[in-house]
Amino acid sequence: MERVLITGAAGFLGSHLCDRFHAEGFDVIGLDNLITGDMKNLEHLIGQDRFTFMKHDVSNYVHVSGELHHILHFASPASPIDYLKIPIQTLKVGSLGVHNCLGLARAKGARMTIASTSEVYGDPEVHPQHEEYFGNVNTIGPRGVYDEAKRFQESMTMAYHRYHGLETRIVRIFNTYGPRMRLNDGRVLPAFIGQALRGEDLTVFGDGSQTRSFCYVDDLVEGIFRLHFSNETRPVNIGNPDEITIREFADEIIALTGTDQKVVYRELPENDPKQRQPDIARAREVLGWEPRVDRAEGLRRTYAYFKSLTPEELNKSEHKAFEAYKR
Ligand code: UDP
Repeated sequence: MERVLITGAAGFLGSHLCDRFHAEGFDVIGLDNLITGDMKNLEHLIGQDRFTFMKHDVSNYVHVSGELHHILHFASPASPIDYLKIPIQTLKVGSLGVHNCLGLARAKGARMTIASTSEVYGDPEVHPQHEEYFGNVNTIGPRGVYDEAKRFQESMTMAYHRYHGLETRIVRIFNTYGPRMRLNDGRVLPAFIGQALRGEDLTVFGDGSQTRSFCYVDDLVEGIFRLHFSNETRPVNIGNPDEITIREFADEIIALTGTDQKVVYRELPENDPKQRQPDIARAREVLGWEPRVDRAEGLRRTYAYFKSLTPEELNKSEHKAFEAYKR
């Protein structure tokens, strides 16, 4: 039986990856420091055979005894408001965290996939974004702590690949949504759905003409799974090319939830990318992958999840651990 370590296991993507690897028969070790992650995302796996949880900060030395065949490094704050609140930790998990994982992978002879991001393209001047584009990132802007950590993470991973011959994979993840997103993480989909459910107006930043392309989580997990077991060592974009303006997206959420609330406009955050759409030609070619769940279906499934939350969960601001960590 093969063992896999998944960092960020209690987070949105990490927990879905734990489910997938567990369902495929792997022995899964889920690691998380529970700062932005939530054990609720893993409660169905706790106590099951072939699943172990480790509460640990991957920015510190990671020890795993016994054999280890695969590592997926998915630990990181992943929403603009999170990494603005914990900027140094965001830089550390992308740099020290990836270094610890790569060292562990080398010691164990494990294959490693890192979670990179469309943010390596910054506010892109090339549209749609293909993997050969080098990006347009403001290193010292507020988003720089995330973008540059992820860019460093890619460089470090390629160095281990080239210098140590480590088996590495790099997935560049575009905006993804689905059940288990944190309602208060500040990203646009949980923000809008949370506002609709609480009877608040939907806050569109700027004039809402900026675009994003949203991928349903099951499609993303399928792409990551295929990439991890492929031979592709170059970065691969995984995302849904179906692009939409944020203003149109707000209208879709209003229609989906049937809320009487309206759209209100707020200041656009600094360095907010104007457009984003993945070019997925490489994923199609090398993985035979493309998204299958369209936005209407994905949004229905996601809304069903958010509607199932208790009023307490709906109104909760932040995890206590997160508050403590910020200080
Ligand atoms: N956004 C918005 N209202 C919100 C939250 C986000 O209009 O309440 C916008 C944000 O400015 C950005 C887009 O929605 O243009 C996507 O933001 P998100 O934080 O989800 O992720 P990003 O793609 O910017 O990393």
